[in-house]
Parts: sequence; structure tokens; C-alpha cells
Amino acid sequence: MATTKYIFVTGGVTSSLGKGIIAASLAKLLQAQGYKTTIQKLDPYINVDPGTLNPYEHGECYVTDDGAETDLDLGHYERFLNVPTSQSNNVTTGRIYQSVIEKERRGEFLGKTVQVIPHITDEIKHRVQILGQTGDYDIVITEIGGTVGDIESLPYVEAVRQLKWELGENNAIVVHLTLVPFLSAAGELKTKPTQHSVKTLMESGVMADVLVCRTEHELPNEVRTKLAKFCNVRPEAVIQSIDASTIYDVPNLMLDEGLDKVVLKKLALESSQPNLTRWNQFLTRHKNPKGEVVIGLIGKYVELQDSYKSILEAFIHAGAENEVKVKVESIHSEHLTKANAASQLKHLDGVLVAPGFGERGIEGKIEAVRFVREQSIPFLGICLGMQMAVIEYARNVLNLTDANSTEMNEATAHPFIDLMESQKAITDKGGTMRLGAWDCNLLDDSIAKEVYQSSTIKERHRHRYEFNNDYKQQIEDAGMIATGLNPETGLVEIVEIPEHNWFVGVQYHPEYKSTVANPHPLFVAFVKAALNFKTNKNSVSMAQN
Ligand code: GLN
Repeated sequence: MATTKYIFVTGGVTSSLGKGIIAASLAKLLQAQGYKTTIQKLDPYINVDPGTLNPYEHGECYVTDDGAETDLDLGHYERFLNVPTSQSNNVTTGRIYQSVIEKERRGEFLGKTVQVIPHITDEIKHRVQILGQTGDYDIVITEIGGTVGDIESLPYVEAVRQLKWELGENNAIVVHLTLVPFLSAAGELKTKPTQHSVKTLMESGVMADVLVCRTEHELPNEVRTKLAKFCNVRPEAVIQSIDASTIYDVPNLMLDEGLDKVVLKKLALESSQPNLTRWNQFLTRHKNPKGEVVIGLIGKYVELQDSYKSILEAFIHAGAENEVKVKVESIHSEHLTKANAASQLKHLDGVLVAPGFGERGIEGKIEAVRFVREQSIPFLGICLGMQMAVIEYARNVLNLTDANSTEMNEATAHPFIDLMESQKAITDKGGTMRLGAWDCNLLDDSIAKEVYQSSTIKERHRHRYEFNNDYKQQIEDAGMIATGLNPETGLVEIVEIPEHNWFVGVQYHPEYKSTVANPHPLFVAFVKAALNFKTNKNSVSMAQN
């Protein structure tokens, strides 16, 4: 295909209408017709990246192979498309301004006054086209975060206007997401918010080509016709996006509505029947589980589901693969104590101790690890969860009672988890952790090697602290084995306890790489271990009856 085509996804009236899922679903349908498609998210806030945001603010921070700390929507893109994203797939206002200001300091504007238009908008246009210019993609979908009409969205909408004009009809289109609320008192679906949202977009000179309307009820024909007439789109370009029980239904819902067809027609591209065989296989398994396992998720951000988004999705993929429903029970680490650990955790088939930062809730995490280690309940520790597994072992097996991470206690006599030398001089918080994909060699006869079926793996990291190798011999002699090592630095990436049922702690984040087409092997194996544990538990109790 000669030129890359661009689709902009904008949103009006209320944000969080699920633009990310619509963008990912559209991309899936285009990919399933053979178009090489990628998705990009432009975020209108001033943080250079979401890495410095508290998960309560913005949900999980998603990390790419190239070490970019990005918006959680990129996780959806990867899970839907099974194609890795990169730094270019997420750009914030902060990053745009940072690069424009750096150029200004280098004198690249040759004495000109630097302004929002054209300099900021040019930088946005440049960032939008970077992916297209790689030649790797037929179609680039750009999701504009935030709400059309907000002050901070203005430069983005202006960049979209210019790009539509420059690239020409059939090369760039706008899909606009709106809300069609149902007023129960009147028993009516209201089109006014959509009309106003389209009008706001038009005030900036941008016409919507396709409307995707979020609704709780089916849109009758007369509502669709009205929306088409007043919003200046073809009737077939009014797409209903009805509430779905799972986000994984949305591609099929969009297919039924013909979103892919109308988009491809506007881009003057051929459309065919998308091949969703693998996707639908997954859906069938996901919706028809043959059993259930209950996994405890121990973390301190459990009030907000989005904080552990990728972990929850990885469980959905792994559950489907094992044909079971994975019921995730969120347990606040701050509420766990030595006294209540047994009563809170004894019914679980597996326990995952979550990633995190800072001291709050770590004693609860350590108690959770102690309980599952002693009871041989399957355990997966991720990042801070792995670090807490090490501390627990040091304290309760090696009897080094003040063992700790220097993140929590700088003065500990036994810093089992410590900063790397290279981290000690760093004071900036943004973008300075060990980030992105790193190699890891796996030990023979380990769970890890059996799970991955390979001797070398690559997994994504996001942390500052590391296992302190001064203690490696001592902890291995006591029974906790480092089964995954970074080949260049010798850093410990995986720990296991061979005499336990299934006990794995990983310094990296496997959840980022789990997709519908490729459920993560570690999650698949963990769910399987939980299922085996549950089956054995039941047969023991039956034998006792
Ligand atoms: N706080 C720990 C560190 O920085 C763990 C980080 C995490 O769990 N992602 O090393």
C-alpha cells in the first residue's frame, strides 16, 4: 500500500467513554482483514509520561519493551493486537513541550517567536506521523485523550484539522465518540449531547466522519437517522456502542455495527470478512469455564481496579487457556496482620503479591507470603511482591529479623534488597528506574524453565531496587533458589522455593506481555497450579469425610 492512512479517535461530552477499547477494537478488525495497524495515544496532560503519576490518579503505568512508561490504554492495544508498542505510541503534552523547548534552546527556530501554533501543533503532527513513516503500518489509529472542547485538547484538535487537510480526503478520518444518555423519567434516548459534541468539534474546523455512540439501550432507527441528519454523517456511519459484559466482546459488537466497513470505505480501502478465529476461540473459553479458582491479589491500590489492570487481564487470558474462571479477590495489604492472615487467606487457591512502591502495606505483604509459604499455597510475587518474598524468607527462615529492603529501611543491618550502584547517584524520579525488556537466563530444573520452555527470556522491568547478591549463597543454602539471572549483570530476576508446591517470585512484570493471542506462560502455569492445589485440597477433604 502506498501511503499510510490515519484514523483519529476523539471523544466528547464526557471522557472515559472507552475510547481506548473502541480504538483497540477497530484496530483488531482492521488487523484481522490483513491491514498492518497500530494505535497511538496522545495525552493532554503536562507530565512528561505517566510514570510519576500515582496509580490512584491514572490507573496502572504500562511499560513497553523499549522502556517507555505509558498510559494503560497501550496495554489494551497490545492485548488486542498482540503487537508490541513503543515510546512513539504514547505522547503527552509534557513531552511535546519538552521537545519544542529543547529545540528552542538549541537555536533550531532561528530567532523566531515560538508559539502554540505552529510550533506545538507541528510537533504534534510530527509525532502522529512518526509511526506511519516507519513504513511498518498501513493504518495508524491515533486516540486523542481527554475531551474535545477542553482547553488542553485545543492544540491536538487543531493538529487533527491540519493533518486532515494536508493528507487529503480518504487518507485521514475522524471517528468521534459520544454519549447517548437514556432519561428514564422520559423513557427516551437523548441525541442533544451528541449534536453539541459534534458542533464543538466543528467549531475547531473538524468534521466527524464516523460517530460511535455509547449507549445503555439499543439505538432505534429513528434515533440513528436523527443523529446522522443533525451531525452531518452518513446513516451507516452512526455506530452504536452498547454496554458489553466484557471488553473482549467489543470487536464483535463493532463488526456487527459495520464500523470496520464504514471506516475502510472512507479511507478508500477494500474490506473483507475479518478472520477472528483465534479471538473467538478465546471468547468461547472465557465465557464457558469448566471450573473456578480463587486467587488473592494482595496490594495497596486495590480500591481502584485500574491500578492492577494488566494483572487482572492476564488472569482472564490464563483462565481461558485453562478453561476456568479466575475469581480474583482483592485483599488490602494494609489490613493483613499475623493474627488475621490465616482467616483471610486460607480459602484461596493461589496468592499473588502485587508490585508497588513505598512502605505502606509491606508488613501485610510479608505476612501473606509467610502464610502461603508455610501452607504451600501456590504463590506468584511480582516485583515488590518478589522482593517481599525474599525479605520474608530472610526474616522467618534465616532468622534475620530486621532483614529489609533499603527502600523501606535504609539503616537495616540486612539489606537483602538494595539499590544498584548505578542508581545511587540518581535524584530525578521520572524515567530513571530499570525499565523495559531485559534478558534473563533460566536455570535447568526450575519451574521457570519448564514454564517458558526456553533457556533465555526477555521480560519488562520497572523498579529501582534489586536482590542483593551478597546474600545469594546464604539464601540458596536455606532453600530459596535464584532460578533466573540477568546474563550481563548477574542480577537476580527470579526466585523459587523447590520444596514448595509452586512458589515463584519475579523481579520483572510478566503481566505486561500477556495478550489474547499469547496468554503469558507464567500466569497460565500459576492458574494451573492453583487448579491442581484446589483439586488436591478437595480430594484430601473428601478422603477425610
Ligand atoms: N518499589 C520497588 C522498587 O522500586 C518495586 C517496584 C515495583 O513493584 N514495580 O524496586
